[in-house]
Amino acid sequence: MFEDELESLRESSLLREIRDRSSPQGRTITIQGGGGRECLNFSSNDYLGLASHPALREAARSALEKHGTGAGASRLLSGGTELHRALEERIAAFKGAEDALIFNSGYAANTGAIPALAGEGDAILSDELNHASIVDGCRLSRAKTYIYRHRDAGHLEEMLSTVSARRKMVVTDTVFSMDGDIAPLKDIYGLCSRHGALLYLDDAHGTGVLGGGRGALEHFGIRSEPWIVQMGTFSKALGSLGAFVASGADTLKWLVNSARTFIFSTALPAPVAAASLKAVELVESGKAPVDVLWANRERLCSVLKGMGLDPGKTETPVVPVMARDAEAALALSEELLHRGIYIPAIRPPAVRTPRLRITVTAAHAGRDIDALIEALSSVL
Ligand SMILES: *Cc1c(COP(=O)(O)O)cnc(C)c1O
Repeated sequence: MFEDELESLRESSLLREIRDRSSPQGRTITIQGGGGRECLNFSSNDYLGLASHPALREAARSALEKHGTGAGASRLLSGGTELHRALEERIAAFKGAEDALIFNSGYAANTGAIPALAGEGDAILSDELNHASIVDGCRLSRAKTYIYRHRDAGHLEEMLSTVSARRKMVVTDTVFSMDGDIAPLKDIYGLCSRHGALLYLDDAHGTGVLGGGRGALEHFGIRSEPWIVQMGTFSKALGSLGAFVASGADTLKWLVNSARTFIFSTALPAPVAAASLKAVELVESGKAPVDVLWANRERLCSVLKGMGLDPGKTETPVVPVMARDAEAALALSEELLHRGIYIPAIRPPAVRTPRLRITVTAAHAGRDIDALIEALSSVL
C-alpha cells in the first residue's frame, strides 16, 4: 500500500533508515553502515558524556536491584517510587521552581502539558522553528495557534497586542535543536510579563548546557516565576530518559489532573529515575564537565569559521553545516563515515535546509575535533 510513497521518498533522497549501534553512546560509536569499525561520534545529544557514566550506571543498578525493571502502572495508580518524587523535588530546586512533575519523554511532556495549559478560547503564540513535539502539543490543544517569525520578539509583541483570547501562552524552544541558536528570552520574558501571558519554555537542549548547566533562565539571569513553565528533558545532557515540567505548585497540581500523557501512561522504571537523579546531582554540584563542553564547542566553531564554513547562527554545541540539497547532505555524511566520522544528515521535513548536524560534547578530546575538521575539509 505504501510502495509509491516510499519510492518517492527514495527518489528525493528523503528516505530514512534506522542505523543501530553496538557500542555505548560516547566519544566513539560503532554503528551500522560504518563497516563494523569504531567511528568518532558527532551525532549525540549526550552533551556531558553522562549516558554511560559510572555514577549513573551505579545509581541505576542499585535501583534495579531494589525495584526491578517495570513500573507496572501509571504514577496515579502505583507506578511511582520515592525516587520519582525525589527527582521532582531535586529538579524543582535546580530550576528554582516551586515544584516539578516527571513525564516519560520530552515528546510526552509537550504533547501532554501544552494541551493541559491552553484550550478552547485560548491563544498559543509559537516560534516558527519550535520542535515537532511542541507543534503537536499545539495541534492537540484546542487553542488557536499563532506562529511568530523565528526569534522575532517584535513580531511576537505585535501578536500579543492584537490577539484577543481568554488566556495567552507563549511557547518557545530555548535552544533550537537543529540550528543551535538561542531564543531572545530577556525580550520574550518582558513581553509575557507585560501582557499577562504564560511563558512555556522547552529547555531540552539548554538543561545541562546553558547557565553552568542550570539552563536557559540562569543563562539570562531570569528568576523563575509561577507564570513561567520550564519543560526540559533528562534524555539529552542528563544522559537518561524522561522529562520534567517545573513551575508553580498549582500549575503542577493541574497537570497531574489534566495532562493525558501523564495520566494514561505507565511511569518510568525506577532505575531511569535514579540515573536522572544522579545526573542532576552531578551537574548541580559542579562535577559534570560543562566547561569542557563549551571549550570543545569554541574550538570547533573557531576553526570552522577560519575555513570559511558557515555554521549559521549557532551559539551552542549544536553546529550545523549547511548542504546544497538533501542528496548532497547524504553524500557528505556517507563520505565522512567512510573516514571514521559519524555526523548524520538532517533533511526535510525535520529542517528546511538540508545539513550535517554536528554535536560536539564534553567527551570529545581536542584531537577528535581536529580529526573532524581534517575529514570535513578533505571531503568538502
Ligand atoms: C529532543 C527534544 C524533545 C523531545 O525530547 P525526548 O525526551 O527525546 O522525547 C522536545 N523538545 C526539544 C526541543 C527537543 O530537542
